[in-house]
Amino acid sequence: MALTDPSKRLEAMPPYMFAELERRIADKRAAGIDVISLGIGDPDMATYPHIVEAMQAAVAENANQKYPSNRGREEFRQAFSDFYLERFGVDIDPGSEVIPAIGAKECIYNLCFAFLDPGDVALASDPGYPVYTGGPILAGAEVVLLPLLPKRDFAPDLGAIDRLTRERARLLFLNYPNNPSGAVVPEGFFEEVVAFARENEILVVHDNAYSETTYDGYVAPSFLATDGAKEVGVEVFSLSKGFNMTGWRVGAILGNADAISAYWRLKTNVDSGLFDAIQLAAAAALTGPRGPLDEMNAIYSRRRDLVVETLRAIGVDVASPKGTIYVWAPVPDGHSSTSFAEMVLEEAAVVVSPGSMYGRSGEGYFRISLTTPDSRLTEALERLREHLA
Ligand SMILES: *Cc1c(COP(=O)(O)O)cnc(C)c1O
Repeated sequence: MALTDPSKRLEAMPPYMFAELERRIADKRAAGIDVISLGIGDPDMATYPHIVEAMQAAVAENANQKYPSNRGREEFRQAFSDFYLERFGVDIDPGSEVIPAIGAKECIYNLCFAFLDPGDVALASDPGYPVYTGGPILAGAEVVLLPLLPKRDFAPDLGAIDRLTRERARLLFLNYPNNPSGAVVPEGFFEEVVAFARENEILVVHDNAYSETTYDGYVAPSFLATDGAKEVGVEVFSLSKGFNMTGWRVGAILGNADAISAYWRLKTNVDSGLFDAIQLAAAAALTGPRGPLDEMNAIYSRRRDLVVETLRAIGVDVASPKGTIYVWAPVPDGHSSTSFAEMVLEEAAVVVSPGSMYGRSGEGYFRISLTTPDSRLTEALERLREHLA
């Protein structure tokens, strides 16, 4: 073994499939071509001013510059408790049912190390956020993919999971409103999840990254609002997308107190908590005005309409999403996800994400993100009309 050989766990990670697409993007840019990316899900607009002001005040305080506690500040836990009650009708005990996470990604990854051993299985939505598959593999466990398909309104078929898999499964990763499909949770599905988790003793991890980003009057529920959810699961809430705070790295885990305690124990060995100033800024975000969120959603829904209209005009049969910052659309006949993304790049100098990036069941789709500034998005859509119609 050579001294820089990575661990077997790292080697077990699936290879990165999109090097070719990225090479082509880099070549075009190097050749001076103005490539517009609609690939990345990172809000283009600024964090809301009241949050930035709270951070500016908090960061200057010496008391906030020390090591934080992994349990989180009282202000942070209380703000989440108040927010969950008012926004979702969910009671959260600030003392035992919520602690900070350094973003949802950290939380999901570390939950794998808190709950999975070699031989265990994690059930992961497919297509889905990559950490649902990467986390379990790095923890030495196995992943079983649960296809999300339009014919089931992008809900996995829990009844189709075989008995042996159910016996070995310890975690179930779900996410609604869903990245990348833009789907919202089908009526009754969370109830079905609670019954399934109880029967099979599987801890549910609901990734709630997009509850505040919804359109057309749709209001997304918390998984924890489902009867019995707190007995079988946790919810990971992120401020990244809804509050334009991706760079701040702030979220929280809420729900089952024993699960949160295990996550806390794991974290005391891994990191030294979430910067106190960021915790105070997050509390200001959660207790602050809703106006900026509503304005942001109005901007995204206008962009969504432009994208959907353009795609339909060039013959793509696309559904208009009620939430998230993505439009998920089938590739035209005769294309794979990557061949379509490559063709769009060649013809229109526009980047769309191949659906296969998000898992096997994403093959046959592409994703467009709504986080490109209006003028650039309009330009990209004009190019699609011109070159692909
Ligand atoms: C963007 C995203 C996240 C990332 O959240 P962070 O809090 O920024 O780590 C988590 N889950 C999904 C589904 C996402 O799309």
